[in-house]
Amino acid sequence: MIDSLGRVIAEDIVAPWDLPLCENSAMDGYAVRAADCGQATGLRVTGYVPAGSLASVPVQGGCAIKIMTGAPVPSGADTVVPVEEIEERDGEIWINGPVRQRQHIRFTGEDVRCGETVISCGTVLRAAEISMMASCGRAAVAVHRKPRVAILSTGDELIGVGEIPVPGKVVDSNGLSLAAAVQECGALPVILGIARDTRASHLEKMTQGLTMDALITSAGVSAGERDLVREVLAGFGVRELFSRVEMSPGAPTTFGLRDRQPIFSLPGNPVASLIVFEEFVKPALLRLMGHRRVIKPFLRAILQDPVRKKSGKVKFLRVRLEWRDGKALAFSAGDQNTGMLKTMLKADGIAVLAAERTSFSPGDEIDVHLISATSEMLEP
Ligand code: AMP
Ligand code: MG
Repeated sequence: MIDSLGRVIAEDIVAPWDLPLCENSAMDGYAVRAADCGQATGLRVTGYVPAGSLASVPVQGGCAIKIMTGAPVPSGADTVVPVEEIEERDGEIWINGPVRQRQHIRFTGEDVRCGETVISCGTVLRAAEISMMASCGRAAVAVHRKPRVAILSTGDELIGVGEIPVPGKVVDSNGLSLAAAVQECGALPVILGIARDTRASHLEKMTQGLTMDALITSAGVSAGERDLVREVLAGFGVRELFSRVEMSPGAPTTFGLRDRQPIFSLPGNPVASLIVFEEFVKPALLRLMGHRRVIKPFLRAILQDPVRKKSGKVKFLRVRLEWRDGKALAFSAGDQNTGMLKTMLKADGIAVLAAERTSFSPGDEIDVHLISATSEMLEP
C-alpha cells in the first residue's frame, strides 16, 4: 500500500462501512444522560468502557459510565462530560458546568457513509488518501502504471557524460537532465543515448524509442541541414501536430503523434529543453499517467527588474523568488541568454511573459510557474 504513495489511483474507493462505525466518545470522561446533569446530586459511576470495549450495562437514570476516547457510547447515555469538567468523590461524579445533549459524541457515519465514494479514479494518493483507504480496510489498490519514456539526444557534436570534451564537442547533458525531469514527474525514463546526424543513426535509435510509451528527442529540429529529427520521424508515420512555437526560448519545439503515442521534439539547447519539458512535456506526461490536474497554477509575483522582450513571442523568464510581507517578489535569476545554464540553477520559477508586450517594469505583476520541489517551500 505504501508503494501507492504519489501514484494516481485507477479505481474508485467506495466506503464498505460507516466511519465512525458506531457512536463513540470524542473525550475521556463520563457517558451520562443530559437530563440528569445540572442538579445538585452526584451521579453514581456504574461502569467503565475503555477504547476497544463495549459497556456491559446501559446508563441508567442518575448514573454515569466512565468512558475513554473512541469507546462506543453505552446505550442510555446521550452525552459525554469530559473528565476535566467533573469532580469524583466516593464513586460519584459532580458536574461543574452546563451540559449539552450529544456533546463530545462522534456519530455513526458522520465522516463517511457506507457506500459513499471517498476517493475517485484519477486522484493522486497522498498520506491523507492512504489514511482513508486504510480506514476502509484497503490493503491494496489499483494505480495507473508509470509510462516508459524514451529519451534520445541527437547531434554529431555530442559526447557521453564522463568523456572529456575537446573544442567542438559538447557533453550530452540533455539525456540526463530530461531523464531526471521525466523521473521527477513520476514516469520511467529510458535513456537511448546519442543519435548521430545521419538518417541511419536516427532510424536505429528511433526504432528503439518508438517501442516505448512516449519519445522525447532533443536537438536537430531547427532549420539546419543536418536537422533530421522531423524528417525521420515522418518516415515512421508520425503525424506532426505543430512545429515551431512563438516563444523564447524553445521556438523549434515540435510535437507529433504516431497513433496515440506522443513524440516530443525539443530544442537542443539545455535551458530551452528543460523549459519546454516543464511547460509542454510534463503536462502531457501527467495526463498520460492519469492525472486530472496537469496544468500548474500560476503564482502571482511582483517583478523587481526591468525586462525587454520581442513582440509576438511568449518569453519564459527565469526568476528567483523572495517573500516579503506575504508577497512573492520575482528577480531575474541572472543572464537570460538561452546559453546560460547557470541562470537555470538560480531560478525558482519561470515567469511567462505575454507575447504582445515588449517591456516590463519593476512593480509589474507577472505570472510564475514554480519549477522545483524545494521552491514550493519558499513561502514563509
Ligand atoms: P541544435 O538544436 O541541434 O541546433 O542544438 C542547439 C544547441 O544545443 C547546440 O549548441 C548544441 O550543441 C546543444 N545541444 C544539443 N544537444 C545537446 C545535448 N544533448 N546536451 C547538451 N547540449 C546539447
Ligand atoms: Mg544539431
